[in-house]
Amino acid sequence: MEKVRTRFAPSPTGFMHIGNLRSALFEYLVAKHNNGDFILRIEDTDQSRYVEGAVEFIYDTLNLCNIKIDEGPNNPGEFGPYTQSERLDLYKKYALELVEKGEAYYCFCTEERLNRLREEADIRKVAFMYDGHCKKLTKEEVAEKIKNGEKYVIRQKMPKEGSTSYDDIVYGNITVENNLLEDQILLKSDGYPTYNFANVIDDHLMNITHVVRGNEYLSSTPKYLLLYKAFGWKSPEYIHLPHIVKEGGKKISKRDGDSTFMDLYNDGYLPEAIINYLALLGWSPEDNNEIFTLDELIEKFDVKRINNSPAVYDVMKLRWVNAHYIKNLSDDDLYKLTIPHLEKEYDLSKVDDNWLKSLINLYRNHISYGKQIVEEVKLFFDLDINLDQECIDFLNQEGVDNTLKVFKEEILALEEWNVDNIREVINKVKDRASVKGKMLFMPIRIKVSGIMHGPELPDTIYLLGKEKVLNRLK
Ligand code: GLU
Repeated sequence: MEKVRTRFAPSPTGFMHIGNLRSALFEYLVAKHNNGDFILRIEDTDQSRYVEGAVEFIYDTLNLCNIKIDEGPNNPGEFGPYTQSERLDLYKKYALELVEKGEAYYCFCTEERLNRLREEADIRKVAFMYDGHCKKLTKEEVAEKIKNGEKYVIRQKMPKEGSTSYDDIVYGNITVENNLLEDQILLKSDGYPTYNFANVIDDHLMNITHVVRGNEYLSSTPKYLLLYKAFGWKSPEYIHLPHIVKEGGKKISKRDGDSTFMDLYNDGYLPEAIINYLALLGWSPEDNNEIFTLDELIEKFDVKRINNSPAVYDVMKLRWVNAHYIKNLSDDDLYKLTIPHLEKEYDLSKVDDNWLKSLINLYRNHISYGKQIVEEVKLFFDLDINLDQECIDFLNQEGVDNTLKVFKEEILALEEWNVDNIREVINKVKDRASVKGKMLFMPIRIKVSGIMHGPELPDTIYLLGKEKVLNRLK
């Protein structure tokens, strides 16, 4: 059997959003599930949209996610170059080959003429489609125009009859009537290929067996298939992925303030958790398990279980997955994840390192991403706490004053400040004030921490320190 080869083909036009990364991941999983190769190809033929630094960003993102590239601009294999702007001669060669074969033609139509056609189409309320004006030029006319330095593009000659179909692995049979297909531009006047042309040439020359990409290409794929046919090449299999939408059906976009991978990473989401979550956007395993390492995903990933309905991006679900990974971090890694956020917000220069480590650990099960710890531990850094109405109402209940009075006495009498002794103090309050459950814990928790919910109370009190606790009991 032929070796499975997939490619991730981003355009360096911006910063990798979640949809790009999901494509990369699925491409990687299709390859690796079949012991195949995963190739990175940079599609930079639209130079006007090139964004400085975007390529490095792609490398960094894939690296962080542990998605290893078998061949790409950084580690070329035998099918390079892997950056389209370095392959211009190839596209030209193949475009001319199609012209030779009568499957493509030179087009010298000016912008003015095309604009006029567009306006006419507008008036008639029909979709603009190039009218094939230059198709009838003779070889001699073409040669003359080129000699005169007239600008040209090369267009694909589309069949006017019949239809073109293929079976997408996710979406099933897709058929398009050929007369709806425009004689699309393959090579632009600046010598650069269009995406439509370059993706075919490269996928063929790079021996790509499975094209995995967003479903915005679902209906243009017949155009590409006609190119394969024109060359007499075998086409790859197609796996188009469902859109990722937000609750309510809107597409996710950076412009709407939706997070990119780096935004999430910078907020203290773990790459392995993000990857785990993204795998579930459009794919589901046979069992109900939702937590997977990358290796487990490789093992379980079955293209037949890719769903064709839009995948809903749910931040709460992502947080749930991330929280799961945070729970299982080593103490060191949890520290590394949270400390940059704490450092940014609080002055840690006089803070004892062991105290800080214990504090971070106390919140291990209470945060779902790194940055969240900042708000959570505020009560350990602030001098005063502000109580909300719910807390105030709670403290106004009968008996609370007595509970707090007894608690304060026991705290004052405490000789050695440690968690066990503090637990013992709370037990004593229970007996002396004859309160239990909520009426025991809640007044103490509210009074010392200012909130009604939090981690273990004795540990919280311990880390607050005697001075702060007594201060708040005043
Ligand atoms: N450069 C295209 C994009 O970023 C790639 C599409 C494909 O995978 O063929 O959308």
